[in-house]
Amino acid sequence: MASWGQKRLKDPILKLRSATRRAKSDVANKLISMFLHELSRKISQSWSVKVDGEEYGNLVRKWFNTQCPYCCCDLTNTESVIEHLDGMNRYRVGLHVPGNVLMACRRCNSEKRRDDSLRVLLLAQSGWESFLSHDGTRCVTLCRTCRYWRSIWNDDIERRLRLNENLQRIRSFRSGFPELLQVLPSFTQTHPELLGKLYSDCQTFAEMETKSLLERVDSGSKPQS
Ligand SMILES: [Zn+2]
Ligand SMILES: [Zn+2]
Repeated sequence: MASWGQKRLKDPILKLRSATRRAKSDVANKLISMFLHELSRKISQSWSVKVDGEEYGNLVRKWFNTQCPYCCCDLTNTESVIEHLDGMNRYRVGLHVPGNVLMACRRCNSEKRRDDSLRVLLLAQSGWESFLSHDGTRCVTLCRTCRYWRSIWNDDIERRLRLNENLQRIRSFRSGFPELLQVLPSFTQTHPELLGKLYSDCQTFAEMETKSLLERVDSGSKPQS
């Protein structure tokens, strides 16, 4: 099956089509992220701790000991990025608010995207819990995330222990933000549908506008008779 997929991608026209499809989904994903950022600002206006404030930064550093919350690497020596526990996409509906924003190493941040981009999660309720649940015993075949954790903690017992410790540490960190926990249930129930609509509307709009613009460009370039 894999070789068939590779052959298909070698076809230049199919390659071009998949690039166009990706560009369209990039636009729609960007719009979702913009919407979630605005929504976050609105929701957290009255919260006592500010996500971009010094107090929150110190709190996160202290709680996680300036380590990646997932793989525990030292972030002072590693390239780190802003990490949203619940990813800011249409499936995970994450917010840019205290309790959901952390610093993580770039590798974990990108490995976690596989779980974040699944419509339905099989291992846990949220993307970050799912990411930390690939302990090598729960996936039918050894998946890429299971392999990733194995590359970090090769010993089965240690790996399970560390993944579970990190799950608990993040859970107790989150419990310090009751305002977030209060809005979450209604979010995860109603918003995926709303954001799914925003996503497909954006794609339809992009498609229509591109088509009409192309037609105008096309008729303008025709020689006058
Ligand atoms: Zn990491
Ligand atoms: Zn797995």
